[in-house]
Amino acid sequence: MKPSPNKAFDDIVDRLKISLGPLGEFTEVDTLSVGNRKYPLIKIVLGKGNPRRILISGGIHGDEPSGVETICSFLENKLYKNFLDNWEFTLLPCINPSGFEVGTRNNQDDIDLNRMFREVTAPQEVNFVKTVLDQPYELDLELHEDIDSPGYYLYQKDKSAELSSLGRVILDQVESIHPLNLAEEIEEVPMDRGLLSRLSEPDEMEWWPMALYAFTRGCNHVFTLETSPALPMAVRVKAHLLAIQTALNQKERKP
Ligand SMILES: [Zn+2]
Repeated sequence: MKPSPNKAFDDIVDRLKISLGPLGEFTEVDTLSVGNRKYPLIKIVLGKGNPRRILISGGIHGDEPSGVETICSFLENKLYKNFLDNWEFTLLPCINPSGFEVGTRNNQDDIDLNRMFREVTAPQEVNFVKTVLDQPYELDLELHEDIDSPGYYLYQKDKSAELSSLGRVILDQVESIHPLNLAEEIEEVPMDRGLLSRLSEPDEMEWWPMALYAFTRGCNHVFTLETSPALPMAVRVKAHLLAIQTALNQKERKP
């Protein structure tokens, strides 16, 4: 089956630039060439120099557009503004632009970028993300969707000895607008009302997703957040936006 094309990536770039205005820093860190097409690999920073740092990313899987839409909407609605006293935001709106444009999970070379973070020789898009992770973040929120899931769920990994309550709090909030996935496990990992705690240690895994790489780079709280494409786009975006705001509000309360 031919994948359905997403909105052109150029439209996304335009929306990001217009909504950001002069407030933040829009950087084309690298350029990805696919045939005659060139895609910028984009990093946006808001509140530069603030003491607390959060990374929010979307579109590492090109067929999961709600993460990309969420970052556009986050900027368009200026949802960062209550947090700009303390937080420096780094946004990676679309890590896999060629996959996004044609609606495929993998990139132009049919590589799943989110399996490549342990490779010494990694694709250009992965190297771009690794550069961004040179400095540790307190919070890393990775926006995904899962075509096989009837509801929202998340993977949580954090540095504290005991799992923090943050993942549970996020899900309790999101449940008011987006049903949770209530399965007891996903891919043999036990799940508690949408919460998966990744207990595996980085050294035990053959391949690393971005989340595990971020964890090894010193991120204190790493979340992989998954919506269900069975729900309308507006609901999925709203759920991801609520997850982001809940995580920030909780961290403000309990530094
Ligand atoms: Zn994904």
